[in-house]
Amino acid sequence: MKKLVLVCVALAVVVGGVFWFVNGRSAQTSKHEGQLKVVTTNSILEDMVEQVGGDDVKVYSIVKRGTDPHEYDPTTKDIRETTDADVIFHNGLNLETGGSGWFKKLIKTANKQNDEEVFAASKHVKPLHLTTNKNEEDPHAWLDAQNGIKYVEMITEVLKDKSNDKAAKRIQARADKYIDKLETLDQEAKSKFNDVPEKQRLLVTSEGAFKYFSKAYGITPAYIWEINTESQGTPEQMRAVLSKIHRSDVKSLFVESSVSPKSMEKVSKETNLPIYSKIYTDSLAPKGKDGDTYYDMMKWNIDHIHAGMKGEKQAK
Ligand SMILES: [Zn+2]
Repeated sequence: MKKLVLVCVALAVVVGGVFWFVNGRSAQTSKHEGQLKVVTTNSILEDMVEQVGGDDVKVYSIVKRGTDPHEYDPTTKDIRETTDADVIFHNGLNLETGGSGWFKKLIKTANKQNDEEVFAASKHVKPLHLTTNKNEEDPHAWLDAQNGIKYVEMITEVLKDKSNDKAAKRIQARADKYIDKLETLDQEAKSKFNDVPEKQRLLVTSEGAFKYFSKAYGITPAYIWEINTESQGTPEQMRAVLSKIHRSDVKSLFVESSVSPKSMEKVSKETNLPIYSKIYTDSLAPKGKDGDTYYDMMKWNIDHIHAGMKGEKQAK
């Protein structure tokens, strides 16, 4: 009799254990199964997708923070993640075209189709063109927050499309809140530079990434080279930027976090103007640091550019 009880207890423990194991595992798996696998080409898109997608997405971003998304060489992990992805967002507008089109090649290798799995976040943006090559679009549209909102709307549209009704509602609610926050920032920035005298309102950067920003917020952009895919810091480019600086009352220079500071340091030496601070153009800061989200990057840029233009004491 004792033996029988013991066997029964042992059996109950085993059955219970198996039941717990199977249940626990399936609960875990279904959580992952519910998440959309999203790949983005850069950290700005990564953040936008995370803001809107929340727990409903799992994001892998290809070009690492602090590095240049124009030129890139995908790794085997990038290829694997892109192959496994449900959705892939790229900027478009001639951003991921360096290295004779690294993104196009990646998509082909991963066997993904445009408008089925692959979407340009910039789809609804009205493009500006390069000055040096009028046939080519300028990719840096996100630096105008109104365009950033258009990116967020495009991302929201695609994520909702790929999700069930419940998740789609959550995605829309997050997007509405996020867009409100970006609208407020954009409104502030629209009048922010009014108190800077016009001859001081020249924004000097290495790459000419601020065409959209300048148009939106009423400043004039100057740069050493127009886009990262061309040669950087040639004597001719240096002469051109120096002459623009000499004709203005500009108080300080800036350097982007994702380019080498060497050329701007030369400009600083030649003009005796300080480099006020780093600013963010093509990449966010590492997670946990200032400027690690699209909103924070925009806010950082607006505040630092404004202070630098006014000739305030150099930021640390
Ligand atoms: Zn760029």
